[in-house]
Amino acid sequence: MKVQGRPQVSAVAPSLKISDYFGSQVFGLKEMQETLATPVFKKVSTAIDKGTKIDMSTADEVATAVKSWALSKGATHYTHWFQPLTGSTAEKHDTFFDAMSGMEKFKGSALVQQEPDASSFPSGGIRTTFEARGYTAWDPSSPIFIFNQTLCIPTIFVSFTGEALDFKTPLIRSTEAINNAAVEICQYFDRNVKKVNPSLGVEQEYFVIDRALYATRPDLVMAGRTVFGHNPARGQQLDDHYFGSIPSRVKEYMKDFEIEALKLGIPVSTRHNEVAPGQFEVAPLFEDINKATDHNLLLMDVMEKVAEKHGLKVLFHEKPFAGLNGSGKHNNWSLITDTGVNLFQPSNSARENLQFLCFLVATLKAVYKNADLLRASIASAGNDFRLGANEAPPAIISVFLGSTLTGILDELEKNGNIKIEKGDNMYMKLGISKIPEIILDNTDRNRTSPFAFTGNKFEFRAVGSSANPAGPMTALNVIVADVLKELKKDIDKEIEGGKEKKIAIVNVLRKYIKESKKIRFEGDGYSEEWEKEAEKRGLSNLKSTAEALDILLSKQVTDLYKRHNVLNEKELHARHEIRLENYVMKVQIESRVMGDLALNHIIPTAIRYQNQLIVNANGLKGLGLDHRAAIETIEEVSKHIEALKSNVSNMIEARKRVNKVEDITEKAKLYSSEVKDAYFDKIRYAVDKMELLVDDEYWPLVKYREMLFLK
Ligand code: ADP
Ligand code: MG
Repeated sequence: MKVQGRPQVSAVAPSLKISDYFGSQVFGLKEMQETLATPVFKKVSTAIDKGTKIDMSTADEVATAVKSWALSKGATHYTHWFQPLTGSTAEKHDTFFDAMSGMEKFKGSALVQQEPDASSFPSGGIRTTFEARGYTAWDPSSPIFIFNQTLCIPTIFVSFTGEALDFKTPLIRSTEAINNAAVEICQYFDRNVKKVNPSLGVEQEYFVIDRALYATRPDLVMAGRTVFGHNPARGQQLDDHYFGSIPSRVKEYMKDFEIEALKLGIPVSTRHNEVAPGQFEVAPLFEDINKATDHNLLLMDVMEKVAEKHGLKVLFHEKPFAGLNGSGKHNNWSLITDTGVNLFQPSNSARENLQFLCFLVATLKAVYKNADLLRASIASAGNDFRLGANEAPPAIISVFLGSTLTGILDELEKNGNIKIEKGDNMYMKLGISKIPEIILDNTDRNRTSPFAFTGNKFEFRAVGSSANPAGPMTALNVIVADVLKELKKDIDKEIEGGKEKKIAIVNVLRKYIKESKKIRFEGDGYSEEWEKEAEKRGLSNLKSTAEALDILLSKQVTDLYKRHNVLNEKELHARHEIRLENYVMKVQIESRVMGDLALNHIIPTAIRYQNQLIVNANGLKGLGLDHRAAIETIEEVSKHIEALKSNVSNMIEARKRVNKVEDITEKAKLYSSEVKDAYFDKIRYAVDKMELLVDDEYWPLVKYREMLFLK
């Protein structure tokens, strides 16, 4: 086959030493220090550290320095780079060249603020009601970089009345919320802690297929996933066959995008493990949450761009191929103090372990109380195909701790009442002096949990591969911040009641452990028993985005976001609306693609094949030969054609009905139940059966086996 013979494009690194080019396209602290006058540099680094405002004259100086740096690197344009609610990134390029003066120009005002022609970005009614436009504003805490000869300035995107229109703004606000709450708790243990920052390491899964084959599949092009296609015979059953052997074209592609990512200061360390055929993973080292989010989005851009050069197409959809593993974006999250302590790291010091337990138990309780919000934070049309599928985390939110920690929490719950006498070693008595030795045992893993403790961090595994990590991370920051605040209040109350500090802490933790016990699950999250068990426990199992998003309008969630100044009610409502609209649009597109493919390609092909079979059957009959097999096939094909025709036309009718519904919440739910659930599987079943029946030569779509087994 032509695809298999396609020559590979080799990746060439600028140097053998990564340190020679790491971050060469980034205007980071080092570059600032080298090019800015000391007082100016001080102002900028304070702004980065403390979030203070940068005045215009400082901005002018930075702009001048950035401009000369960018021009020396061959950049011709600049853009504000932001994260609108569509989920990807957006840019509006302007040239440095000023025709009036005939010179390259870049002023502080252009660095600090820009008005993108943003009428096409969704705002859930905020912009239209208040101001016609939104604007982007420089976020100095994330470094400026050059990509494709364009200087990119990371920015937030807000309306003129100050409402957030993007993912970055609430993420930054939530980081502030958890910083405040966490620092307060740290004061019980170490008064030197002044700042706590969430950190994030994103494991990104993706598929790679040949670009020409991609172009032949309208469903992949339009919807990002195959709406039809029969499983290849060599599916995932032969897992081990693929381990370790990465097709060489893909290997060169990986090397190449790694090089580009490293130049952009993204600390990638690719892992070459694939789960499904054609599926791979890349995982950069963790960074501060804001930077890690920017880097994840930038990395996805880089991967798309570099794939073109290699004649490949990278797929970030959560479930591009039915019957094969879906793709996730595992969000590894922890909290790190400015004194260098990871608050989720058990240690040799018993005192620090008590602090560790505060954060661990607070997170447990936060997830327990807000499981529905977390579920909503990862809801999307694409992720609906993955969550709850046989090999992905279920739509039920639960927390895995591992047997060691489970044991420790159980013991703490039991022993909490133990009398602690003067001179006693409380930590010994409570069994928390000995955490470190055991936890770092890597074998204690559960890959089926949507939210797992993995040694020194939590891993939110249910996040979809195409999602902006800022959405779920904002939710996580806020819910944990909220419980930390509550924890502080409860501990202080105990102390006021005369309890010794350590005892007060243990008492409250014990209460929290009991309260949130239902969220803990150590077993197989993919199993049916778990669904039943979860139902018994009263845990939600919201399978559709259309249902899952309801929680965003609840009083519990609106109060929560307001309390921590992360999103006001208007902003939350806008988000709810945008996400529902997005959901409806996605299902609508898939439904159209399905209908078009079925009517214009599949049915005509099946009829053509059927006609040939009829000729064949008649021929056999004329010769007096047995023609039962031919007749049977004709009957089978006819049956599927009929089913397909009627289901497609009923689906189209359903769509017409649902399109008339005005209320977006109602409409999304109907799209989910009356269009998607009612017809997608039935239509697919008929088509996939026909794929097996119809002669290979006739079949109009490139098949799974052709797409998935690159050399
Ligand atoms: P796995 O989960 O497959 O065992 P790793 O332990 O290497 O993989 O971690 C996966 C990701 O978690 C990486 O991106 C890594 O940088 C990140 N990570 C490790 N420690 C932390 C931490 N303290 N906070 C956030 N992310 C972390
Ligand atoms: Mg992992």
